[in-house]
Amino acid sequence: MDLTAPRPADPGLLDRFGRQAVDLRVSLTDRCNLRCTYCMPAEGLPWLPNGDVLTDDEVIRLVRIAVERLGVTEVRFTGGEPLIRPGLTKIITEVATLERRPRMSLTTNGIGLERTATALLDAGLNRVNVSLDTLDDERFATLTRRRRLPDVLAGLRAAADAGLTPVKINTVLMRGVNDDEAPALLAFALEHGYELRFIEQMPLDAQHGWDRATMVTADEILRDLRGAFTLLPDPVARGGAPAETWLVDGHDALDGGPARVGVIGSVTRPFCGDCDRTRLTADGQVRACLFATEESDLRAALRGGVSDEELAQRWRVAMWGKRAGHGIDDPSFLQPVRPMSAIGG
Ligand code: SAM
Repeated sequence: MDLTAPRPADPGLLDRFGRQAVDLRVSLTDRCNLRCTYCMPAEGLPWLPNGDVLTDDEVIRLVRIAVERLGVTEVRFTGGEPLIRPGLTKIITEVATLERRPRMSLTTNGIGLERTATALLDAGLNRVNVSLDTLDDERFATLTRRRRLPDVLAGLRAAADAGLTPVKINTVLMRGVNDDEAPALLAFALEHGYELRFIEQMPLDAQHGWDRATMVTADEILRDLRGAFTLLPDPVARGGAPAETWLVDGHDALDGGPARVGVIGSVTRPFCGDCDRTRLTADGQVRACLFATEESDLRAALRGGVSDEELAQRWRVAMWGKRAGHGIDDPSFLQPVRPMSAIGG
């Protein structure tokens, strides 16, 4: 593969390794109403000044460019906590009017979803991923430093009732904290018709507390699940999806199809070769990868008055430089300066 070859004249978000990004993760804020111990310190972080955060109209413009000029077909809103962004419904409503309307989803901690699920569906949101690491009230309070488990459970129910389906749950297991809960979380998800995804903890915390030696691995999670359930290979091709999925024998999803469980082995089973994601931070920086050390500043260009096509071209150039892999297991690996909450998880 010639890595110095010039970028072909193709409108899509190609890179030098033959991948094309079609899945856009948009962070709508770096702020959050939880303080998960593996994500940020108790006191929070120095938040972006309001003037640095893209306005609703700027977000809508960049998403439109991504969809209309760059071939993006999926848009996931995230943060920080996207439900605390006042303009969320407006942004979804506007993106839903695009000619090549993308599928839209939201990654949220679920707080406030009970109140907003129906309005989000009506605005054009297709589905949600809700983060939930424990079913135990005390653990939840310890892990997130807030006593909000009932709000999250109510948010999950409301999302399912509204039809923001499939409702997926994201879980991070931490050794000695909640690593005994994998089977209970799966039983809960099966009972309610939610699709559970375990995510390996990644070196993206603001406190730099991640430790490769003690993180809970995909193999361990699968071993624990197999102690309580029979997992069968999923015949559906994975494509660019981060999760490896298994069918849970003897259990049906609410739509009558087979129930599934997924594991996102970002560290021990990286899937960079099939990555189809591009990221936009709340302050308008394009990142080719969660672990990128470079960013491309679309906000400055946008506020400087450049055209849609010029913005699109800057985005293409940023993605052309995407690296082959995140290199977490490489001795030269450097944790990105921005933590997960400021990139958009
Ligand atoms: N506030 C929203 C939420 O809770 O889903 C969206 C942002 S949050 C950063 C997105 C996801 O990233 C959550 O599922 C969270 O558990 C996960 N996450 C945060 N830090 C992580 C880390 N160091 N490794 C793996 N996942 C992480």
